[in-house]
Amino acid sequence: MSQQQVIHLLINQEEVKTPSYMEVRDPGRLTDVVGNVAIGSVAHVDQAVRAAHQAFQSWKTVAVEERCRLLLRAAELIQSEGEAVARLLTKEAGMLLSVYRGEVGMAINVLKATTEWAQTFFSPKQVEDGQSWVSLEKRPLGVIAAIVPWNLPLMLTMQKLAAILVTGNTIVIKPSPFAAIGVSVVLKKIAAMFPPGVINVIHGEAEVGSALSTHPLVRKISFTGGGKTAQFVMRDAADSLKHVQFELGGNDPAIVLDDANVDEVMPQIAAAAFRRSGQICVATKRVYVPKQYYERACELVCAYADQFSIGHGLDEKATFSPVNNRIQYQFVKELLERTRQSNARVMELGTRLEPENWENGYYLHPTVVMYPDPGQEIVTCEQFGPVLPIVPYHTEEEAIQWANSTEYGLGSSIWSSDPERALRVARHIEAGMTCINGANLSPLGLKHVPFGGVKQSGIGREKTEVGLAEFIEYHGINYHKETS
Ligand code: NAD
Repeated sequence: MSQQQVIHLLINQEEVKTPSYMEVRDPGRLTDVVGNVAIGSVAHVDQAVRAAHQAFQSWKTVAVEERCRLLLRAAELIQSEGEAVARLLTKEAGMLLSVYRGEVGMAINVLKATTEWAQTFFSPKQVEDGQSWVSLEKRPLGVIAAIVPWNLPLMLTMQKLAAILVTGNTIVIKPSPFAAIGVSVVLKKIAAMFPPGVINVIHGEAEVGSALSTHPLVRKISFTGGGKTAQFVMRDAADSLKHVQFELGGNDPAIVLDDANVDEVMPQIAAAAFRRSGQICVATKRVYVPKQYYERACELVCAYADQFSIGHGLDEKATFSPVNNRIQYQFVKELLERTRQSNARVMELGTRLEPENWENGYYLHPTVVMYPDPGQEIVTCEQFGPVLPIVPYHTEEEAIQWANSTEYGLGSSIWSSDPERALRVARHIEAGMTCINGANLSPLGLKHVPFGGVKQSGIGREKTEVGLAEFIEYHGINYHKETS
């Protein structure tokens, strides 16, 4: 793969050039141009959707086994191209190379896991008695638009693509303009493995997204991104009464109970909060710690954060990378500025590897905020950056109430040495997922827990059989053995 990429639209297996292209710069070295990405129009969206609609007529009849076989070939392709794609993602989207190597593995895993979920999902459901028999059949919806954010571009694209295609639908994908290159390079090769029109890729921003959400032949929008954008999608989808599935923002609370071993758990919480420089929807975003352990807990988190070496994602010495884009960078900087004006204590930690390049990228320090007010903006908003506010609490009830006090409800974690107590507290948390004594899902959890959030963190779920059910309709057929 060459250093500078030109990415066109992909419709019906053909590359389609557009009148204008967006220049993509390296978030860790803004003077470097990584490539140019096509900007599509409403007419291009129509062309892509019609291609997908045409392909749907035959793709829906393809056996599930064949769909799975092709998805497994896609997984093999990502495996073989993994290193090159990870490097490209690092250049265009800014996180550490090791992070994208991990994401390549996640993308492969989700493709494989989806083919396993499909086995149980499609097991036939037929019942009969003396008078009749009933067949409950699962039918695809048609053309699905998959709108993807920049923060986990390859994994989220493959998660959507696998579920949408294995259930017999066709897809029009709109990657984020902030992470379109690596994904598109892979998608072009994967699309060539499938019949023409099954996979189409369109690029652009709001105009293109809106054209997808309003197009009458698109049956469902599978959207991952911010809540504000989701509101536009929902309004646009209303005219044609489209289904929507939303994976939105999070502000995951971690509650450390007073029987937890603070020395053991705080470094784990810090690791979860600062991975991907905090740019992950299910990252721990606020911690509630018993008042009596507060200073010690903060000391441990600060010590953890201070070990980071902040540098370019391709620098082997770097353990902490810049954030992805200017909007995100400005937002976090201004949020921290407002936080400094309050009674909270803001500590910027870690070491700058290339101080001379600091202003040439979206670099931020891993930051710990001590003594914020529980209702303060830095605690209640989704800052989506490398910041961890730590809030002291007096009672368990208070911690639960504060944890539930936002409009978010994606992930969460409870830390305790008492399993029954932890479970009781976990059941009070308003979230789609709660981990006990861990910040992330275990391998077993990844296989069995449908991914998604409650309240304004989402509508519907991804992954597992529950996630596949998002992309089908039921068709009940009742055969009467004798006409009366
Ligand atoms: P975003 O909402 O700005 O953009 C998401 C996608 O929507 C992009 O492809 C964008 O181009 C597109 N878009 C923009 N305007 C549109 C419109 N009017 N109609 C249709 N599409 C439009 O989000 P982002 O900044 O790319 O990603 C960060 C957000 O995504 C965070 O809030 C994060 O929590 C969330 N996220 C959620 C999950 C999850 O699974 N819950 C996973 C990853 C990211």
